[in-house]
Amino acid sequence: MKILGIGTNYASHAAEMGSPIGGDPVVFLKPSSALLADGGIVRPPGPGHELHHEVELVVRIGKGGKRIPFEKALDCVDAYAVGLDLTLRDLQKEAKRLGRPWALAKGFDTSAPVSAFRVAAEVPDPQQVALTLKVNGQVRQSGSTADMIVPVAGLIAFLSQYMTLEPGDLVFTGTPAGVGPLKTGDVLEAEAAGVGKLRVTVGAAAG
Ligand code: MG
Repeated sequence: MKILGIGTNYASHAAEMGSPIGGDPVVFLKPSSALLADGGIVRPPGPGHELHHEVELVVRIGKGGKRIPFEKALDCVDAYAVGLDLTLRDLQKEAKRLGRPWALAKGFDTSAPVSAFRVAAEVPDPQQVALTLKVNGQVRQSGSTADMIVPVAGLIAFLSQYMTLEPGDLVFTGTPAGVGPLKTGDVLEAEAAGVGKLRVTVGAAAG
């Protein structure tokens, strides 16, 4: 399976990052080894990194395909979850500056915590889901999937023009504003209302 990530899919987050909007979605990949289940411990790959949280709606592909039309795209989704697209912002900034890929900034072990999945039939509208992230009980991010620049169906249609989507693939659909740094010991509670809840802790750096 593969994990696809979408950058800059909310205008509010684009503004805080100084990123341009418009044009095709920004796409990146995380390896399956990045996954972390609810209740797990996030471990940055080394000390001194600027670890940032990004709360996101996660889409799981049930029926895959290529060149999936927009109108049929949501039929390919079998479940939704809430996830955290954890990012080493220092490495990402450096990669942007040098024109290098984001793979290490976005794909380190434990960089993709995901909640239990809710079957798609029980999520009436993926574009009407409130997203919240609390760190140590304080709200850091609060948004709605209604504000996505490219909606879930559009992302699936776009991605499947380039890569065959396969059962079990995940798509992290972008984050609203409010991203920020984390430190060892922080407790993150993410929620996608009506979809799922996720709780993870930031542990000491790996190694
Ligand atoms: Mg993200």
